[in-house]
Amino acid sequence: MKAAIMVGANEPVEIHDIAIDQPGPREVLIRTGASGVCHSELHFLQGLYSQNTPTVLGHEGAGTVEKVGELVSYVKPGDRVITCLSSFCGNCERCLSGRPNMCMNKSELERESGSTPRLSKNGEKFFALSGLGTHAEQMLVHENATVKIEGHDDIPYEELALVGCGVMTGIGAAINTADVEVGATVAVIGCGGVGLNVIQGANLANAGKIIAIDREEVKLGMAMQMGATDVVDASVHTDISKRIFELTDGQGVDYSFEVIGLKETAEAAFHMLRRGGTATLIGMVPQGTMLEIPAWSWGERRIQHSSIGSNRFRVQIPQLVDLYARGKIKLGDLVSQTMPLANINQAFEDMQKGQVARTVLTYD
Ligand SMILES: [Zn+2]
Ligand SMILES: [Zn+2]
Repeated sequence: MKAAIMVGANEPVEIHDIAIDQPGPREVLIRTGASGVCHSELHFLQGLYSQNTPTVLGHEGAGTVEKVGELVSYVKPGDRVITCLSSFCGNCERCLSGRPNMCMNKSELERESGSTPRLSKNGEKFFALSGLGTHAEQMLVHENATVKIEGHDDIPYEELALVGCGVMTGIGAAINTADVEVGATVAVIGCGGVGLNVIQGANLANAGKIIAIDREEVKLGMAMQMGATDVVDASVHTDISKRIFELTDGQGVDYSFEVIGLKETAEAAFHMLRRGGTATLIGMVPQGTMLEIPAWSWGERRIQHSSIGSNRFRVQIPQLVDLYARGKIKLGDLVSQTMPLANINQAFEDMQKGQVARTVLTYD
């Protein structure tokens, strides 16, 4: 089967024909329907985060179950599923305390080292990004990395795929991690695929003022469509914290979200808070970066991280799909363009130009 391979940092992505094994006892073989190209993949490709290679890229996908292992009872062939990178063991203290996205036994969900690899080429093991590897014609994953979608056969895979990372991460950061309350003032720094979903999440929570911050006019336009009430063009207002105070009567915001992954904007997320406010960091700040925060300015301000929207995805992804079916959130508007797997390098080039929310790869 064809798959998009990261061969090394700062190398172009290559399309390889690789072998995929039969499902092990708790594994599921999926025919990929569509996969979204996520900004965080770029961090691995640029060497800002370490990643074993060769690896099949992609962690945002959906498709149809083709075959299941002998111990799998959750899904069966023909089921439509979304994959999620927050795979969980279901037995550890974190899983059993209602925080499966913080699972402590994720290595149990991989095959033991030395056994036949799930993915290979001429005997060489190929890794799968986040245990998924969605940019491929097929995926072989642990059953606890899937959630089945029942009763929404009219929603295409191009839209369902986005829920597995971008939508869950963004909306989850607002409604789970930060728990934005009705009437709160919110700022979102970075309006790509995830940032737009933080805006949707703040909107779902009935936030009062939702201020979108980006350098690209086209993304600020999308932010307004997703429910932002105000925008800050960071190419004009380079001191974004100062601009936020101007827009909030000198008070700052209750909740800020950083969705880019830069030291400067992560620190700005803290600086723009009002007393008692909370900054939530989502963007992947490069490994080794230190953040500096002035200790004199606490005032019960908090800074926290959100991992894939603090999700309980088996419960929450079907809820998000239902919300979409009822017109409460948008999915189709997040898909800027679709293209075949073979054009994946184009997708990353377009991403770096900053003009797209999501490029979705399609499979025949
Ligand atoms: Zn992602
Ligand atoms: Zn666990």
